Amino acid sequence: MTSSITDLSRLCIHTMTTKPWNLAETIAGYTSAGVPGITVWRNHIEPYGAEEAGRMLRDSGLRVVSLCRGGFFPARSAADREAARDDNRRAIDEAAAIGAPLVVLVCGAVPGMELAEARQQIMDGIEAVLPHARAAEVKLAIEPLHPMYADDRSAVNTLEQANNMVLAIGSPWVGVTVDVYHCWWDPMLKSEIQRAGNSIFSFHVCDWRTPTRHILTDRGMMGEGCVDIPRIRGWVEDTGFTGPIEVEIFSTEFWDWDQEQLVERIKRAYLSAV
Ligand code: ZN
Repeated sequence: MTSSITDLSRLCIHTMTTKPWNLAETIAGYTSAGVPGITVWRNHIEPYGAEEAGRMLRDSGLRVVSLCRGGFFPARSAADREAARDDNRRAIDEAAAIGAPLVVLVCGAVPGMELAEARQQIMDGIEAVLPHARAAEVKLAIEPLHPMYADDRSAVNTLEQANNMVLAIGSPWVGVTVDVYHCWWDPMLKSEIQRAGNSIFSFHVCDWRTPTRHILTDRGMMGEGCVDIPRIRGWVEDTGFTGPIEVEIFSTEFWDWDQEQLVERIKRAYLSAV
């Protein structure tokens, strides 16, 4: 039995959810709306630089939950793979600078590259940047993406695969992110969440619209799609997870809204449908 959510204390919103706002507007919007947590996307840091963004975030009192995103490890040439690893090291440094304890990995894929090869390159890439993460005391979370993205965004498409990688790497600094948008359809989801246990580092919510009008930018508000979010949250919390619940919605529809009204809509949906 999943306990209901009665307050906003675990609510976190991704800056990409309110993409039209720059970081300063995002911080002002979340704090005035009583949203306690923020996950910061790198494009929202870029205009300020990580040091300045870190100062702004520390001054705000917001809890910085994670930095999105690292990953995209596979590439055709060794030089490009090394460039990807360097970019991940920079992402880790940015996370440390803004006080984010976690970098979420969208692991990557290359059209035409065999998925098995891409998966090996992902493993090798994570292991290559792991010493940097450990030194910076920043964790890495493998986020499996829905299989519709297997061609060009991530060759890691199920929680089982992500769990297998975490097990093979065997470091307390590497875990998984469970995003209901990517995992809701998986018949093995409940057992794989149990198997992940305390290596679940973060939990993302939104909903799956029917029909989905665009595979990247048509995520639904919680409660307006077909995902049983409370059930999945219950499975996640049964592992002992008590961390933030992160609202991550890429939606051209919602980006057109007044963003203050969007945040209010998120708060209502969070209290009624998560
Ligand atoms: Zn996500």
